[in-house]
Amino acid sequence: MSDCTFCSIGAGTIPASVVAETPNGMAFRDLNPAAPVHVLVIPKAHAADSAADPINADLWFELMGLVRQVVAKEHLEEGWRLVTNVGPDAGQSVHHLHLHLLGGRRMSWPPG
Ligand code: 5GP
Ligand code: ZN
Repeated sequence: MSDCTFCSIGAGTIPASVVAETPNGMAFRDLNPAAPVHVLVIPKAHAADSAADPINADLWFELMGLVRQVVAKEHLEEGWRLVTNVGPDAGQSVHHLHLHLLGGRRMSWPPG
């Protein structure tokens, strides 16, 4: 999608602080971090963020591999949280599937 920020980051045309990359996925630091480690994991190709339009199982597996890589690289042995915001109730602002990987501090539950 030409006007999608995360498509541009995935294609390398908008710069990002990349932490890990696979052929079809990318993990990069959030511009406005909510924790000492706040990394976004995306498919490089545009994917809708709704369960109504699921991505294939191999791609999910690849994205979870990226999560594992970031957890190891960022030394999140004390714990981490993976979250995805979908729709206005969750406060979603970017409409390209992304997983927030948060760590490096104690977190409360439930989130606000
Ligand atoms: P959402 O609110 O949709 O779940 O999360 C979108 C996230 O993307 C936000 O945490 C926001 O800070 C981050 N973000 C938005 N634009 C950019 C950008 O251009 N670069 C990076 N690295 N993060 C971005
Ligand atoms: Zn996109």
